[in-house]
Amino acid sequence: MLKQIQGLHHVTAMARDAALNNDFFTRVLGLRRVKQTVNFDEPSVYHLYYGDEAGSPGTVMTHFPFPNIVRGRTGTGEVGTTVFSVPQGSLAYWQARLASESVGDLVLSESFGQKRLSFRAPEGDALALVEVADDPRKPWTGGDIGTDEAIRGFHSASLRLRDGGATSELLTYMGYEGEETRDGISRFIRPDGNGADRIDIEVLPQVSHADLGSGSVHHIAFAVADRAAQDEVRSALVDTGYQVTPPIDRDYFHAIYFRTPGGVLFEVATNEPGFDRDEDTAHLGEALKLPTQHAHLRAQLERVLQPLEDGKKVA
Ligand code: ZN
Repeated sequence: MLKQIQGLHHVTAMARDAALNNDFFTRVLGLRRVKQTVNFDEPSVYHLYYGDEAGSPGTVMTHFPFPNIVRGRTGTGEVGTTVFSVPQGSLAYWQARLASESVGDLVLSESFGQKRLSFRAPEGDALALVEVADDPRKPWTGGDIGTDEAIRGFHSASLRLRDGGATSELLTYMGYEGEETRDGISRFIRPDGNGADRIDIEVLPQVSHADLGSGSVHHIAFAVADRAAQDEVRSALVDTGYQVTPPIDRDYFHAIYFRTPGGVLFEVATNEPGFDRDEDTAHLGEALKLPTQHAHLRAQLERVLQPLEDGKKVA
């Protein structure tokens, strides 16, 4: 069993409208945009990162807004819900805030003994907030949401699978412990993790495979300290029979990717070097940063990339 994985690192989803995406995750949810860059393979498409002040591993939701993509269709073989941690007693605030923004599918419920508010982002992302007592992570409070309510980072992510067996085995191998099963959902927890340390598996044998589109999660990434830990994880996964990419330099972390038995794409990402690698922490996410190989495209990209219109409500 591996000991290197600390919990989630980031969750990456697809979007269509970059300005709408930026407005929702920064102004409405109150996350900090910690990086404004472009997709390595499609430099005409943004890669936007939202998290806590520094973009700490376990807090970062990222999006690829492809302007012509169709809406995703939910199903199996994908991440179901991405869940953020908020303070005890804050869900009434969030319910009123999200209702005033006409956020869709707002549902209050209880999950594993915790109060939970589910909703959909404007482009369909299935998200939820869960009340957690004494989450020690420091929130970003640079917007109009105070410490008593602000998001601490991820709490968990759920996987919707036709068959959960092999993925459960994989999570156990990755260092997660099966906690309990309630209402057909099996919870796995990484003991002594980074706070974003729970994965839920929901088995839906009759549901067909999801179609990727806006609002769909593209992959989830798990955190390891550094490249040495990543190499250990990679070797162990390869020895177990997984096909894992070589390490890829993503400028702010190093990444390896592999497809899991249930169909979800997993990444293992390093906590280093981090988002302050190429700009001061005080100004993270303000300027468009380009990977070195795309730097020569700056003038062209600045013409084609949709302005993000910070702080304004997008019509
Ligand atoms: Zn990633």
